[in-house]
Amino acid sequence: MRADPDSIAAIATPAGAGGVGVLRVSGPAAPAIARTLLGFMPQPRHAHYAAFLGADGAPIERGLALYFAAPASYTGEAVLELHAHGSPVVLDLLLRRVLELGARHARPGEFTERAFLNGKLDLAQAEAVADLIAARSESAARAAQRALAGAFSQRVHGLVAALTALRVQVEAAIDFADEELELLGDPALAAGLATVRDAVALLIADARHGVRLARGARAVLIGRPNTGKSSLLNALAGEDRAIVTATPGTTRDALHVELVIDGVGVELIDTAGLRDSADAIEQEGVRRARAALARCDLAVLVSETAHVEADLALLDGLPGGADALVVVNKCDLLADPAARVETRAGRTWLHLSARTGAGLDELRAELARHAGAGSEEHAFTARQRHVEALQQAASALAAAAAALAAQRSPELIAEDLRQAAQTLGTITGAVSADDLLGAIFAGFCIGK
Ligand code: GDP
Repeated sequence: MRADPDSIAAIATPAGAGGVGVLRVSGPAAPAIARTLLGFMPQPRHAHYAAFLGADGAPIERGLALYFAAPASYTGEAVLELHAHGSPVVLDLLLRRVLELGARHARPGEFTERAFLNGKLDLAQAEAVADLIAARSESAARAAQRALAGAFSQRVHGLVAALTALRVQVEAAIDFADEELELLGDPALAAGLATVRDAVALLIADARHGVRLARGARAVLIGRPNTGKSSLLNALAGEDRAIVTATPGTTRDALHVELVIDGVGVELIDTAGLRDSADAIEQEGVRRARAALARCDLAVLVSETAHVEADLALLDGLPGGADALVVVNKCDLLADPAARVETRAGRTWLHLSARTGAGLDELRAELARHAGAGSEEHAFTARQRHVEALQQAASALAAAAAALAAQRSPELIAEDLRQAAQTLGTITGAVSADDLLGAIFAGFCIGK
């Protein structure tokens, strides 16, 4: 066991009005704490209805006690869970009693961190626990469940195993120099490497999708002032979140609304009109708009028929991986006010009206599609760090393929393959640095 030997305790689920509060204790002191607190040794994996005793032997509360013997528990340590009804005050009394009996306060995420350190979960699965807790849409919750069940980790393990097989062959060429040409020239080696590279590329796309599902896709509304960005945001949000006026430059700040469309999360960000402005506050707004654009998954250009062609230039220089939609607003002012959707140069154009609501359902559907709706059946949640690790692995594999094609030394090829495998290992935590672990588990809430 690599976890530290302290026993930890925390209120895992605070009691709401009429709800159940759960106090969780994990560590080597859990059995003794259970015996003292209950007055008997609970049977593992059995629900006991019992009194939870105070220092004076009088019950603090009565409720259900569940005991798990190590290593068959969430953390891999002995775990005691007390399910109490009643108030937060009672839970607090119980927590204090458990602390007196030798546990200490758990840090945020420490139960899950121990589960990871004891090999119950790998790192990507532990992160999925946090994603599940934080899920704001049904799709995000389902995708987090899949990641927790290992859907993502298994694909990473599969890649590492395939890389190991390739390394064995390349390293054989190092050991048996007279067979080097034959071993490295084997078409199965190049083909195997190509297969792994394809699988990594596919996993990058799926992981990106998983990042969007987990945190909601970030869609940024851009366009020159007065095209109706705030009106559109209000119409989508169904309430007046942004101030709408006929004076250009009213939206000086980025405004956010979080929407759930077709079960997927979309964060919609309204920005100050992108134009050069002499006004200092507005300039700050424009700066924020550019910053929001740099971090978005989807840019929604909001324009009008008269100047949409000129406005397309605003979509130049989008960050890599970001998609774009073109909204031609105010169709109610045209001779033919009907909303319509078309594809131009590979981009979706929506002619609609924020004022009348015509075409808004089509826009909602487009937003949901970009956020991952409809393709989430096998999706799993992922994080930006996973995408970056996969991208690094892809570069190392590209270098390996180039070295192989150029008949460079097997040492170089082996090193690239080793690096790719090591980078993939950071996703599941097979290779991990302490500061990375600290950063990941600090993002959890206490008691999880
Ligand atoms: P922003 O500067 O891009 O955020 O634009 P606003 O949302 O503040 O809208 C600017 C002006 O255009 C306001 O007077 C809105 O009422 C008007 N407007 C917005 N959408 C529409 C629309 O679909 N049709 C018409 N006719 N006017 C609109």
